[in-house]
Amino acid sequence: MSIYNEHNLEPIINASGAVTRLGGAPMPAAVLDAFVAAAGEWVPLEQLQAAASRRIATLTGTEAGLVTAGSAAGLTMGTAAILTGFDLGRMERLPHCDGFPHEILIAREQRSGYDHAIRAAGARLTEVGFNEIVSNAGVRRTEAWEYEAAISDRTAGIVYAFGPGSRPDLEEVVAIGRKHGLPVLVDAAGELPPRANLTAIAALGADLVSFSGGKGIRGPQSTGILCGRRDLIAAAALQMLDMDDHPELWEPPADFIDREKLAGIPRHGIGRALKVSKEEIIALLTALDLFASGAYDKDFARFQSYLEAIETELRGTHSNCRTVVPSHEESWPTLEIAIDESVLGRSAFEVCRRLRNGSPPVYVSHGQLSDGCLVINPHCLNDETATKLARRLCEELS
Ligand SMILES: *Cc1c(COP(=O)(O)O)cnc(C)c1O
Repeated sequence: MSIYNEHNLEPIINASGAVTRLGGAPMPAAVLDAFVAAAGEWVPLEQLQAAASRRIATLTGTEAGLVTAGSAAGLTMGTAAILTGFDLGRMERLPHCDGFPHEILIAREQRSGYDHAIRAAGARLTEVGFNEIVSNAGVRRTEAWEYEAAISDRTAGIVYAFGPGSRPDLEEVVAIGRKHGLPVLVDAAGELPPRANLTAIAALGADLVSFSGGKGIRGPQSTGILCGRRDLIAAAALQMLDMDDHPELWEPPADFIDREKLAGIPRHGIGRALKVSKEEIIALLTALDLFASGAYDKDFARFQSYLEAIETELRGTHSNCRTVVPSHEESWPTLEIAIDESVLGRSAFEVCRRLRNGSPPVYVSHGQLSDGCLVINPHCLNDETATKLARRLCEELS
């Protein structure tokens, strides 16, 4: 009996990994225990976020940090901080930015559905560069000079989507930002693991870095981390925290929010709608410590054995398995299952649909369906679901 049965839902087998659409990463027992323990007592949220800031700063090698409502929320809060600084009038006006700089530069090839999170703060995105490789027009991609050429007195900052293939290199974009006094906000939502990225991206000079808490870190799905410059983190926190206190009594921890820099107390800001609970903050910090300590490495052998078992099971079906080893050793392999449509009589899309509609419903990674390939990501599997998954795959591919 599943708790989801009470709501007439059948839990799925998630062979897609920590994707948001299917509910994110598996939280370790220690993270769930921390969530429950935190729920039974109360602390002022700004003191809790200040404590989180110190812990995140230590683990990321930055000045300060904030637990956000996910990496997308981190992009909204980071953008809000860049747009307002400590200007209370600007904080009050967001997302309307008439009369102050609010253009954020972005490489055209780095735009995605997540740039909505940047625009939500009130920013306008100004696109730069081309990817002439994907447009089949040449050999070049976005270049650093193209950012510089787009800077005007309306420019407020730069946003950069970090990944192994991102161009130009972050250092080059940071150098342009520094030269013109423009902060660089980095979306690194899915770039953990490797653990080294906790510190490496900020070390390249990014002013703010946004990570998901509910992917590789395995915290609550609705959390993330924004880390970087102390003044920008403070500006983000001011626009996210509940601000209903008396000026006579309000005493935020000075290393987190320096009251001396403020002309007064802002009211609830644009991030008030993106609040994070005390339980989520504690659970995220617990997960972050586990992730940073390498505690998840012990799962790799288990993940590997699931994939091997599926491969064995699928021998003799109308499919061809290939294990894909990640580029760094801190992640786990995935299994690509190429479907022979001419023999099976069904496309990969059709197989995927049948798996989703079967019992139990199975969701495989769907990024390579158009190449006739299902992908198995073992991150959210356990002994029981891995066995059921192998059986369902075998049924559909025989
Ligand atoms: C997952 C993801 C996000 C959103 O992260 P959440 O923590 O789900 O808000 C943003 N950008 C990229 C590139 C992502 O992969």
